[in-house]
Amino acid sequence: MLVKDKYLKELIVEYLMISSEKVAHVQLNNPLEHAWLVLVKCGYIAVRVFYGSFMLAGYISQTVILDQILGIDRYEVERLGELKVHEVMNTEINRIHKEASFIDGLKSVINAPYVCVVDGDGYFDGILTRRAILKEIERDYYRQ
Ligand code: AMP
Repeated sequence: MLVKDKYLKELIVEYLMISSEKVAHVQLNNPLEHAWLVLVKCGYIAVRVFYGSFMLAGYISQTVILDQILGIDRYEVERLGELKVHEVMNTEINRIHKEASFIDGLKSVINAPYVCVVDGDGYFDGILTRRAILKEIERDYYRQ
């Protein structure tokens, strides 16, 4: 059965998430310069930080990077090569289990544009966005 044939009550977060390999991310030990390039290239305000393959450590935002390199009267761009992502990242991450129900997924994105999806061992599996939830509600509204 395809996701489009399912009722909202049958959906779980795993069916709706953007999978980990498609999610823009950086590693703990990357210099800020790399994080900055990723942020500019992908166009998002923040990206996830991983250690190893897909263990979630936190997230890093454009605002945090700009704040770190702001000197007295100029941006100290050379600091982008000196600081590492783990020194400045934010470690508070909203998470949801991949087998959580549609309604729990919906609740998790009421106050945030997306939430990180993890498996039972805490491995990052992807993200659930508010857009994905809204698309399913629209589909359900027009269901014959
Ligand atoms: P959207 O609903 O598509 O606007 O996505 C909401 C938020 O989820 C974005 O602002 C990003 O922070 C995050 N996001 C969506 N897709 C990706 C992706 N492929 N890689 C990294 N972050 C993403």
